[in-house]
Amino acid sequence: MSRRGHRKWRNESDSTVGVVMATSILAGVELGGTKCVCVLATPTGEILAQERVDTLAPDVTLPQIKAILHQWFETRRDISALGIASFGPVDVDKASPGWGKIGQTPKAGWTGVDIVQELSAGLGVPAVLDTDVNGAALAEMRWGAAVGLADFAYVTIGTGVGVGLIVDGAPICGFGHAELGHMRIPRVAGDTWPGSCPYHGDCVEGLAAGPSIISRSGMRASLIATDDPIWTLVGHAIAQMLHNIVLSATPRRIFLGGGVITAQPQLFPIIRRELQASLNGYVSSPELDRIEEYITPPGLGTLAGPLGPIALAAALAGQATRRPAAVA
Ligand code: ADP
Ligand code: ZN
Repeated sequence: MSRRGHRKWRNESDSTVGVVMATSILAGVELGGTKCVCVLATPTGEILAQERVDTLAPDVTLPQIKAILHQWFETRRDISALGIASFGPVDVDKASPGWGKIGQTPKAGWTGVDIVQELSAGLGVPAVLDTDVNGAALAEMRWGAAVGLADFAYVTIGTGVGVGLIVDGAPICGFGHAELGHMRIPRVAGDTWPGSCPYHGDCVEGLAAGPSIISRSGMRASLIATDDPIWTLVGHAIAQMLHNIVLSATPRRIFLGGGVITAQPQLFPIIRRELQASLNGYVSSPELDRIEEYITPPGLGTLAGPLGPIALAAALAGQATRRPAAVA
């Protein structure tokens, strides 16, 4: 969409609405559990500017993000859309009165904050919202390792466990976005540690996210030996989640990233082995047979997150251009 649209609309002298949209650039905000990233990028995913803000209380963090956005919008007149990719839970249903608001979260002060209103007010461009992982998955589909794939999963193991599950080209979505990181799973025999999720105890996030590893081991994750048995427990929990995802949606590939995975690459072979053991040959596909390609790091690496809101904004700007163009 964007490539063709970009070429077609390159003529700045054309006076239709579409010119402004398709030749313009996009702004994005990725709201993460630890940090937020503001991004300015072209519709082809080339990052022009990127600024990081720590995720603290909303009355500290949001004004800092707004200041960055307003400075960009004042210096550049060609920004056509704002994408917001946020930690969950967040109301992503545009028809809902709560659209744009953060749901119940243990993050102090964030419950009920209207992030769309807060971040887009006064900018004069349309805004779009989805979860951080759905955004990252769509960025992988647009510019990364998932180009050409309509069914895949983007999984991140970081401060939380998040999954962007793309089915038939779009993130799965019902009354809200999915929260696959909180699924309950069978435990390793004899492992009775209660887990750290404030809602579910030993859900996947409660067993495999960074804070859970720190809580269970009593030390910084970076100090734990790479052959410590805790990594088998973490890998087992992630593999159990992947077992359920494989059987639910039969994704053609699973991209696995996030701070924990990036710092602990020894988890890859553990997860692949545990997944195969768990599936026990029940499903077979050429994709699953090539397990090293099947469970693989994201193509955009650490840029998958920041490009997430840009992918959302690109889709929104694309919609906005298509309508006037079709009329013209
Ligand atoms: P976020 O999930 O906040 O968007 P990241 O994906 O970068 O950010 O993940 C950050 C998490 O990674 C932190 O919660 C931390 O516990 C974990 N982490 C950082 N360094 C290591 C490490 N060396 N080993 C394991 N986990 C780590
Ligand atoms: Zn949970």
